Amino acid sequence: MRTGTNHLFIPGPTNIPEVVRQAMNVPMQDMRAHDFGNLTLGLFNDLKKVFKTETGQVFLLPGSGTGAWEAAITNTLNPGDRVLMARHGMFSTLWVEMAERLGLDVEVVDVAWGAACPTAEFARRLAADTTGRIKAVFVTQNETATGVTSDVAAIRRALDGAFHEALLFVDGVSSIASIDFRMDEWGVDLAVTGSQKGLMLPAGLGILGVSAKAMAVSRTSTMRRAYFELADQAKNNATGYFPYTPPTQLFHGLRRSLDRIMAEGLENVFTRHTRLASGVRAAVAAWGLTPAAEHPSIASNTVTAIRVPEGVDARDVIRIGYDRYNCSFGSGLGPLAGKVFRIGHLGDLNEGMCLTAVALAELSLHAAGASVSFGSGVAAAQAVYAEPAPAANRLAAE
Ligand SMILES: *Cc1c(COP(=O)(O)O)cnc(C)c1O
Repeated sequence: MRTGTNHLFIPGPTNIPEVVRQAMNVPMQDMRAHDFGNLTLGLFNDLKKVFKTETGQVFLLPGSGTGAWEAAITNTLNPGDRVLMARHGMFSTLWVEMAERLGLDVEVVDVAWGAACPTAEFARRLAADTTGRIKAVFVTQNETATGVTSDVAAIRRALDGAFHEALLFVDGVSSIASIDFRMDEWGVDLAVTGSQKGLMLPAGLGILGVSAKAMAVSRTSTMRRAYFELADQAKNNATGYFPYTPPTQLFHGLRRSLDRIMAEGLENVFTRHTRLASGVRAAVAAWGLTPAAEHPSIASNTVTAIRVPEGVDARDVIRIGYDRYNCSFGSGLGPLAGKVFRIGHLGDLNEGMCLTAVALAELSLHAAGASVSFGSGVAAAQAVYAEPAPAANRLAAE
C-alpha cells in the first residue's frame, strides 16, 4: 500500500484539479436533447479563445492527440502530396511515420534531438520550391521528448517570405493552453492538441483547430477518411451536436478546466509556466547536469528533459523515484532511453509541486549513482520562487 500523495510529474497525462475531476462525476445525459448545445457551443467558443482564433473552427474529436493528427492530415491532403517535416524528437518522428503510412511524400529534415525545428532550412526549401510541390509544412511546437520549443511564427514568416501557399500544420499537444500559441496571427491552418496535457483532463479528446483556408481545402481533398470527416462534424457542431456519441463527461470536465483557464487568464497561465519552468531549469543547472535542449532560448516551459551523468542509467532514476518515493518522472524516449529523464511541469501546478519534483529527483538521482548534493537543486529553485508571483496568477479559492 502506498500512503500519501502520488506525485505525477510526467508531461501528460497531467494532474487534474479536484474540481475538474468532480465536474466529470455526472449522470449520463441525452446528447440529442434540445438543450445539449448549451454546454457544447460554449466549449467551442472558449476553445477558440485558447487557440486564439476568430476565423478558424475548433473540433472535439473522441480520440487523443494522435487521432487529431490523423484527422488533420486526412481531411486536407491528397495521397502522394509532398509535405515538409523536421525530425528532432520522438513526437516529430511519430508524426513523420504517420504521414508516410498515410501515403504522403515526406521531405524530412533531420536535426539533432535537442535542436528546434530548423526554420532557416525550412525557409530555404520553401523558397526553392517555386512550383509549389510542397503542400504542407509540419511543426512540432513543443517536442515533448526533448523539452524543446520551436518558433511557429518564424515558419509563417518563411512561408510568407517565399509567397508559398502550403498549409501550416502545428502539433500543439504539449503547448496549447500552457505556452503562447496564436492560430490566427501565425496563420496556422491545422492546430492539434489533446485533452490530457495543458487542458488538465483525462485523455480521450483530440482537439483540432482548422483555419478557414483549411476548411475550404478539405472540401476537395481526396485522402480517405470516414469517422473523422470534418464536414460531418461541422454540420452537427453548428448547433452543438455530434455525428456520433460524444464523451459528455469529458465535456463537463472541459467546461470546468476552461473556466479555470479563463479565470486565471491565458497570459497568466503562460507566465506561471515560465516561472515554474525557470525554477526547474535552475535546479538542473545547480546539479551540474544539462538539459536535452541545446540552448536556453529553446528550452520548453512545459517539460524539461534532463541528461543524466555518464555511468548513470536514467531508467534507474525513474524506477527508484516510482518505487521508493511514489513519484513519476517521464522516461527517455527512443534513442534517449536511459540517457534522460523528464520532469513535466505543465497544467495544474504550483511552486510546492515543482519543489517536490526537484527534491525527489535529487533523491532518485543520488540513489541511481549520480553525485548531486542534497538541497542544491531545491535551493536553486527556491531562489527563483522567492520572487513573488504576480497576484493575478493566483486563482481565488474554490
Ligand atoms: C502527448 C503528445 C502527443 C501524442 O498525443 P496522444 O494524446 O498520446 O495521442 C503528440 N505530440 C506531442 C508533442 C505530445 O506531447
